[in-house]
Order: sequence, then structure tokens, then C-alpha cells
Amino acid sequence: MNNYKKRDEFYQLFFDKENSKFTIFDFLKNSSCDEVVKIDMSKDTFTHFYHVEGKYYAPLKVITSYSQLVDVTYNTIVHPEDKEIYLESVNPKTLLERLHNSKTKNFLYARYRYLLQNGSYRYVEQCFITGEEYGIKENIVYLFVFDIQNMVDREPYIDVEGEYVVNPSTAYSSVGLANEPLFLIEGKRLFAEDSESEWCVISIDIRNFRLFEQWYTHEAGKTLIDNISRILLEKQNHSKCIACHLGQDDFAIMMKHDKDEINKIYQEIKLELNKFGASIGFVPILGIYIVEDGVDISEALDRAKLAASKAKGANIYRHIVYYDKETHLYSQNEYHVLAEFMEALKNDEFVFYFQPQCRISTRKIVGVESLARWVRKDGTLVPPNDFIPLLEKYGFIIHLDQYLWDKVFRWIREWIDEGHIPVPVSLNVSRADIFSIDILDCFLKLSKKYNVPPKYIKLEITESIFAENIDDISSLVKKLRKAGFLVMMDDFGSGYSSLNMLNSIEVDVIKLDGEFLRMKEEGYEKSIHILESVVNMAKILSLPIVVEGVETKEQIDFLEGLGCRYVQGFYFYRPMPAEQLKRIIEDTDNIDPRGFVMKTNEQFRIREFLDKNIYSDSMLNNILGPVAYYSWHGDDVDIIRFNEQFYKTVNVPDFHDKLYAIQNVVPKEDVPCLYDLLKRAMKDRLNGSEGIIHFYTVYGTLTTYVMHFYYLGSKVDGERFYGSVRNISELEDLRQQIGVINRYSSNTYILVRHINGKRDYKVVIHGLKKEMGMSTQEMEDLLNGRIFHTHFVNGDQALKDIFELAAKKKPFAYPVDMIVGDRIEKLIFNADCVSSMANNIDYIIKITKRED
Ligand code: C2E
Ligand code: CA
Ligand code: CA
Repeated sequence: MNNYKKRDEFYQLFFDKENSKFTIFDFLKNSSCDEVVKIDMSKDTFTHFYHVEGKYYAPLKVITSYSQLVDVTYNTIVHPEDKEIYLESVNPKTLLERLHNSKTKNFLYARYRYLLQNGSYRYVEQCFITGEEYGIKENIVYLFVFDIQNMVDREPYIDVEGEYVVNPSTAYSSVGLANEPLFLIEGKRLFAEDSESEWCVISIDIRNFRLFEQWYTHEAGKTLIDNISRILLEKQNHSKCIACHLGQDDFAIMMKHDKDEINKIYQEIKLELNKFGASIGFVPILGIYIVEDGVDISEALDRAKLAASKAKGANIYRHIVYYDKETHLYSQNEYHVLAEFMEALKNDEFVFYFQPQCRISTRKIVGVESLARWVRKDGTLVPPNDFIPLLEKYGFIIHLDQYLWDKVFRWIREWIDEGHIPVPVSLNVSRADIFSIDILDCFLKLSKKYNVPPKYIKLEITESIFAENIDDISSLVKKLRKAGFLVMMDDFGSGYSSLNMLNSIEVDVIKLDGEFLRMKEEGYEKSIHILESVVNMAKILSLPIVVEGVETKEQIDFLEGLGCRYVQGFYFYRPMPAEQLKRIIEDTDNIDPRGFVMKTNEQFRIREFLDKNIYSDSMLNNILGPVAYYSWHGDDVDIIRFNEQFYKTVNVPDFHDKLYAIQNVVPKEDVPCLYDLLKRAMKDRLNGSEGIIHFYTVYGTLTTYVMHFYYLGSKVDGERFYGSVRNISELEDLRQQIGVINRYSSNTYILVRHINGKRDYKVVIHGLKKEMGMSTQEMEDLLNGRIFHTHFVNGDQALKDIFELAAKKKPFAYPVDMIVGDRIEKLIFNADCVSSMANNIDYIIKITKRED
């Protein structure tokens, strides 16, 4: 019974039309079922669209009506015990009404056994669907038949094995894939049943999945996961194998080893990824282990995962990697280090080194960072990069960190007891620490145990952890800071930082990864720009920055010129043993007890921000997106700072002249919305406000933006805000927004792009669906099939004209009469050239209705 419930949830997924244009009907049409029948209830007729040959028992009989089809099926195909349910579910007299009143409106399903040609039975599920919302005409019902025997087969296995206890309510993902415990049970069964065959376990995940979500939204990530699930589910329904969803972007499948099949799975998943844009950065990674006798399935899965992780670390062009002995050794070496680690911890082989953080202008020490060192018995020093990533990977880092934190607290206590002024110490906090222990509690206890005031302790948390789990981390950071500890965001700029994130998580200090400073030749310019922008941004947010890895005088001068005050690097001090640090900080002339400070009431240097040399930071802009800084006073909303991306996005020529009083480049109707957004941002300082605003371009056409505002506070010249804009005409991938626009728009927007030298059309908003009498997909197909104009009156002439106009690379408007059924729809095509490098977009064509 449980599976019924699961199926319910599964189908429910596709009814969520708010978030996705993909409906259950699309899903059903695209899935591989055994039968599709279209029924006309008013005429009692039906058409067989698809029927799997030779599988189910088919009586030799001419059937003409739907009632007859039901009769024959009832009498000859349905299992005797299931006849009652069958009759109830297919009853033509009540079907439409039941569909209408169904819990999931216009959708019903039921399960029974069907007779096969060989005399045995298989479970099938019949789904009925109707409704205008799916484009299905009145009185028409589609019937889909699925073979669900494989799924039903698995049910009795749940919790029969002593080894694993599988909770049936969680044994399947929302799309119906098994979870790991069930996978292990099933895998074992498959292997036992047929140990002659060559079985393999494949671990599947997506390279850079997290980044994928950042680029294309979480929603897209979810869609991708669901689609991959479906690919595997289908494989499972059609051959002897078991697939599972391990969580996030991790999947596994156990099947008979077949290189072609493996390649096919790879290609199918790759195709799903390509739907979002082909990139070598986002590819499926398959790690394969061929199951050997005596290796249990859980070990087999581990080996497959290991092969996959090796593929990830290796050459980015290797996507399918087999487990081999070498991989095994590689992992054994890891185990070796881990085994040694525990021993070393007992033997006190770990110590902390300190590296000072200095104020550039005075060269004085404002803090120190504690860095772990492993000093082996023979005196050799193991650098952290040789063991810390490993300890993090297996979660053992907490043992080391807790050990070292305790030591550091004690060290500070002793230093104070000796009568010295303490220097605040930074401690590195790993991902594993945060997820496995109560950090706040742990630090409060240490603070109490050694009577060290929290202000002497700074926690360094890597930026990527923030991005991963923003809500939990932000509440942890709040609590830590409330308790008096300082929090630093480590390695800022290395991951996927966003300005919005920085605003919602308030840290005390940002640490910038010095990697930027070490870039060679061609990367140099770019990295400099990143630095510039981050420093500028930190100024906007009044946050002090520490730049790490500073090695030369030139770098120091450069950073100082940027207005950057603090550095940590070999140029001032290398990491050193505690004893050595003591000798330096004993001399109070070397320390700056104020610590990190940031002048908050800094004058705005508008000229500096308008100087385009400062904002040529293309790379950082990719991270941050377009952002600007606004001032609102009276009726006027001025842009007082903006970055390159903002400039590009807004794409208004003579932009610099239009910076003041931007309400003038917004259509009248939108001006109150603009003020309203600003007011809302003032009310909700944490989340800001977000809304859709249009801007006039020089051509008098309108462009649509989603604008996001955050309130910064009141200044003499007005209220200050900052925020991002997104040109949603280009946001073809952000389906969420498009979904919203789609519902409100009475226009249709087409993006014309160049992909591999070929013109490509994409319908991003289709508000004229009804008027034009075609779905988004149909329209796109016609456009890309170069036959869209055949639906126009004088289509060939119109096409010729439009091409001539387009060749001038200027905006134009062209009236078109479109044939829709037996009427003519008067439309106007407005083309706006955009030339967006990022998306290869040449034109955006807006189609509106024309009244003449
Ligand atoms: P991190 O937190 O980014 O630490 C800064 C690293 O940059 C240190 O490497 C430091 O020695 C190095 N560094 C400092 N100045 C310069 C410079 O001018 N040039 C160059 N090339 N490098 C410089 P280290 O000590 O090898 O630590 C590496 C990473 O290991 C650290 O990166 C941190 O993420 C981690 N780590 C170190 N100690 C601990 C610890 O006790 N606990 C945890 N959880 N992680 C630690
Ligand atoms: Ca650090
Ligand atoms: Ca760092």
C-alpha cells in the first residue's frame, strides 16, 4: 500500500504548475509506457496511439467502442481478483465525473494485473488524464498503461532481510528510485540470482553540481535530478537492474556490465545537462566497479564511488572511469594516513603554528591565525595540505580541531597569566566541525574553562560553507557574534559568493584568498580586477578585509593603493612556532590592540566609482552579477555607483547621463512600483524587496528587469540602497521568473541567438499562446524548422522583409498577419538588438497584438 502513497506524491510533483511548465501530461507523453489510448467520451470511441506488441494477451476481436474495449479487457485480460477494481476505475459512465472530482483534479490512476501472452500476469498501472489545462479538449481522456511489476516486486523485500532495515516510507525517492539500503538489498538479490553474469555497480554524479545550481537556480537543479532519476528508473523498468538515488546529485545503478549500455546512460544524462547549455564543466561522472565474487554490494558501491572521485580529481575530459587496483591503493594510502593520524594524535605530534595578520600602514600585528602542523617523531614537518583535506573528507578533522582549539585557549590563558597583552587568535573551523558538533557550545565551554574572553577568539569559516547552508550558518554566526566571538569569512572570492549572501550573513571580517595575487601573466589583469571589486564591495558594506598570501612589496603597495588595510602573508611573517611568536609580541610596539577596524562613516567618492578603470572587473562581475548603489530623495532615485555588469545589463547608451533621476527612464505606470519597492526594502532590511520594473531603451522600446533592493540607511543626501538587477528578457534559464512573467504577460518574447554559427530561436515568454494557437514548444519547433512564416499571410514576403530589416542590426517593428485556424490574428513584431556576449543573443523579438 505504501507504494500507492509514494506514487501519489510522485504524480503530484508534476501538478505544481506554479513552478514549472512541465506538466504530468508532458511527463506521461515522454515516458515509456506500454499503451496510450485516446478516448472520446462523448462518442464512446477510442484511438490506440501506441501499443506494445506481443506482450499482453490480446483477444482476436474487432473492437469499435470504448465500452467494448472495457468489456473485452475485463473479461479476458484483467486478473480475476482485480476485476472489481478494474471495473470501478474504467467505468465510462462515471469516468469524467470522477476525474473532475479527483483529489488531483483531472487525473486518476489504478493498479491491477494484466494477462500476458505467456499466460502469467504482471502488475500495470492505468493513468487517466483530461483537462484544458493540459491542452486536452473537452470529453477527451488519455489513458496510459505502465508496467509496474518491477516496482511491485520490490515491495515484499522491504525489511525481510535481517541485515538492513528498510523503512518502506522512505525507501523510494519522490520520483520512485530506491534509496541506498534498498539498493543494497536488491543488488544482493540480483547478484545471488544470477552470479554467472558479469555485474557492475556504477556510481553517477554530476561534476560541479553545486555550481550548476548557482548558475541555473535550485529549481533547475531539482529538475535535472528528477530527469536523471527518470532515465535510471526507465532503465530499471526495462532490464534486470536496480538504480538508486543516494542523495543530492549522487546516483548508483547495478546492472549487467555492458559498455554500450553504460555509454548510453552517460549520453542520456549528458543530454539532460545540455538542455541547460553545453559545457564541459557540467558533465556526468561515472565510476564503475565490476563486481567480483566475495565482494559485498556495499563495498562494491564504495569502490564505484572511489572510481568516480578519482575521475573528478583527474583530467577533466575523463568522465567514465573504471575502478582498478591503483584506485584501490590510492584509497589504501588514505587509510594509511588516517590510521597514522589517530596514533599521532595520541602521541601529541600535532602543534599549532601562528601567522600574524598585520595592518599595512603600521606593520603592526592585529591578530594571528593558528595553523596546524604535524611534527612526526623523526622531526619531519607534514604540511596541512597533506592531511587536512583527508581528515575533512572522512570527518576526522573534528578530533584534530578540538584538540588544537583546547591547546590554543590554554596558550592564550598562559600568555595573559604571564602579564602580556593578548593578541586575538583565528581558529579554522571546518565543514565537518560545523555539521557534527555544537560549535557555539564548544567555544563557550573553552572560553569558560580557560577564562579567555570571547573577543580574543576569531572563527574562520570558509566561504563555501556559507553558500551551502545559508540559513543554518547564518543563525550560527549570529549566535557566535552575540556571544562575543568574531567571525571571519575565509577564502572569500574562491567560491560562489554573492553580495546578497554577504548582506544576509553578517561577519566581522572578510579574508580574501591570496590566490589572486599569484596569478601569472594572462590571468593577472583579471585577478587584479577581482581584488579591486572585492575591496570596493567590502567598502560598500563597511567590512574590513584581510588579504592572504601577500609575498612582495609590489603587492603590498598595490593593496594599499586600493584602500586595503590588512594583510597576512610571507611578506610580513611566515607561520611560526608559538615560542617564536611570543618573542615578537612581547614587544608591545609590534602589536595593534585595536584589532580590525573599519571606518564606517567613510566619504563616498562618487568620482572614483564613475571612473571606468575601477570597474572593469569582468570576472568578479560574473560572481556578483550586476549591482548598483542608489540614493533616493524626494522624487528622484539616483544611481550613485554601479559595476560593469550592471552597465552591460542595463545596456542603455548614454547611460552615464541617465544616472540621475532614473525614474525618468521608467514608464509612468512603473514609477509608483519603483517607490513601493524602495519603501518595502526599508521595511524589510534583511530580505530587501524584489519586483519587476521596465526601462526605456534609446529606441523607445522597453526592457524588463527584476530589481532587488536592500536598504543601507539614511544619509544627508537621501536614503541609501544597493541591489541587483536582472534583465529577465535574457533569463531564459530562470524558469521561475519566466513562469511568473508568462502568467502576466500578454506578449510573446523570442530570443534569437547564434549557436555554433547557426541561428537558434528560443521562445522565452509566450503570453500569446491562445491567440497564436500554438504551444511554446510548437512555436519553437516551427521557428527552428524555418517554417514559422508559413503561418503568415504573405509569409514569404514577410520573411524576406524581416531578414532585410534584421541585417541592418537595428531595432525594427514589422506587422504580421497570422493565420490561426479560420481567423487572422493581427500581430506586430518588435525586434530589439541586444548583442549579449554571454548568451550569444542577437535579437529579442517581442510579439504583441496589433489594433489597426
Ligand atoms: P588557510 O586557512 O587559507 O590558511 C592560509 C594558508 O596560506 C596557510 O597554509 C599559510 O601558511 C599560507 N600562507 C600564508 N602566507 C602565505 C604567503 O605569503 N604565500 C603563500 N604561498 N602561502 C601563504 P597552510 O598552513 O599550509 O594551511 C593550509 C590550509 O589548511 C589552511 O588554509 C586551512 O584551510 C587548513 N588548516 C590549517 N590549519 C588548520 C587547522 O588547525 N584546522 C583546520 N580545520 N584547518 C586548518
Ligand atoms: Ca584560514
Ligand atoms: Ca584562507
